[in-house]
Amino acid sequence: MTSTTVRKSPTRVLAARRSANRRRQLIGDLLVVLVWASAAISVALYFASGLVVLNTGGGFVTTLGIATGLVGSDLVLVMLVLASRMPLIDASVGHDRAMGLHRKLGKPAFYLLIAHAVLLTVGYSMSIHSNIVAETVSFFQNRDLVLAYLSFALFVAVIVTSLVNVKRRFPYEFWHVIHLTSYAAVLFALPHMLSQGQLLTAGWQRSYWIALYLLAFGSIAGFRFIRPALASMRHRMRVERVERIAADAFSVHLRGHDLERLGIQGGQYFIWRFWTPGTWWHAHPISLSASPRKDSARITIRIVGSGTQALASMPAGTPVSFSGPYGLFTDAVRSARHVAIIAAGIGITPVRSLIERLDLSVGEATILVRASNPDQVYLWEELNEIKRRRGIKVYTSVGPRGRGPSGWMSARDESRGVNMLSVFPHLAESDIFICGPDAWSQMVEDEARARGVGPSYIHREKFDW
Ligand SMILES: Cc1cc2nc3c(=O)[nH]c(=O)nc-3n(C[C@H](O)[C@H](O)[C@H](O)COP(=O)(O)OP(=O)(O)OC[C@H]3O[C@@H](n4cnc5c(N)ncnc54)[C@H](O)[C@@H]3O)c2cc1C
Repeated sequence: MTSTTVRKSPTRVLAARRSANRRRQLIGDLLVVLVWASAAISVALYFASGLVVLNTGGGFVTTLGIATGLVGSDLVLVMLVLASRMPLIDASVGHDRAMGLHRKLGKPAFYLLIAHAVLLTVGYSMSIHSNIVAETVSFFQNRDLVLAYLSFALFVAVIVTSLVNVKRRFPYEFWHVIHLTSYAAVLFALPHMLSQGQLLTAGWQRSYWIALYLLAFGSIAGFRFIRPALASMRHRMRVERVERIAADAFSVHLRGHDLERLGIQGGQYFIWRFWTPGTWWHAHPISLSASPRKDSARITIRIVGSGTQALASMPAGTPVSFSGPYGLFTDAVRSARHVAIIAAGIGITPVRSLIERLDLSVGEATILVRASNPDQVYLWEELNEIKRRRGIKVYTSVGPRGRGPSGWMSARDESRGVNMLSVFPHLAESDIFICGPDAWSQMVEDEARARGVGPSYIHREKFDW
């Protein structure tokens, strides 16, 4: 008896991918609606509680103060959920977009919490005809309110360090540690929410807030700590060797167990922590630079700061813990027949593992790799082998950038009339994958859009959240 494998037609595969993308988009939109709905629910529950007083000046200001506090706290908890690396969020909108929304909510939440503190102090002093200073001093007699002030001070530290761009001026970890105090800030605010007035003492409001706190802290504990710890213990990864591939870049070859059970897709990344005395305290998001096997994987790192510098001299046998896989820079988001891939510098890493796993026929994918100088042609020699094996066209563009609309290519290529369409003749029927420095990637995206490629066909991996 013979068995035959029925291959799905390319048209049906593309139709299935398009509907998966639409589902993902829908979940993404629903998540955004949920963010704003939760803020609305927090105020609606307050107004439904029967505790709102609007017929006196003091009552009106106090009501405004409570409402701003509820919306501000709600947004802060939602921000924690967005930063929790919840699989549903990463698989539908991607962690980078979730973090984009997380950052956008920071400022409004901060201003609402300032308004909350000021309006409540003014509102209470108006209601009991005392002055603001006496009212503030009286707040300090109450332990829950002292904790609330502490929470407020921590929020100020977190938001101010985000607004003044500490991230760019200091090592990432400095900013990150300050940022982690936001967990303490949220917890310190809880007692005064539950004890002050009768606002959250019973009923739907109390249940809603407890559920939101549990969701935020449960997601952080589960997805950022417990799940990665269990996966790291299970797969027991270690550094096998560190291989220098350029003056400023190296590959880390890893050994592990049952890696296929991680369900990794080409193009994805992990957040890695390497347990040596000098490196255990900083974790780094790094993409796989080759498709993993059952017991081995590889990442390739460019030295850009002290953290990546320290990783370059890790000894063999270093234990590794990780969180992931994450990311949507994969075959799964494709919905066109052709693939155009454009990568610059160390942006080659996710591309290198993506192309190994692309579901392709010969001639359907074209790659353009870009380097400002011949020292930055990381992993290019491996592309030749893949080019032969998978029937992929590869273009290289080396040299300083041009100045025209195709300025993301080398000036030399631009002057020879090379442009996006001449390299990717099937651009109109292609998904475009872009990875490289942010400003450069934006230029590539701008040209693709100007040439009529729809946003849902453009997939960018950002190395800087
Ligand atoms: C999704 C993703 C995939 C990446 N893949 C690769 C890769 O394959 N190869 C490669 O060389 N680089 C990759 N990077 C960039 C890499 O993470 C940073 O270059 C590296 O962490 C810098 O660390 P540092 O301590 O040397 O420098 P620092 O000076 O401490 O950091 C430089 C910048 O790197 C970013 N960064 C550092 N640590 C983190 C962190 N824990 N989380 C988020 N951002 C951080 C920040 O934007 C920071 O401003 C990737 C980044 C992201 C977000």
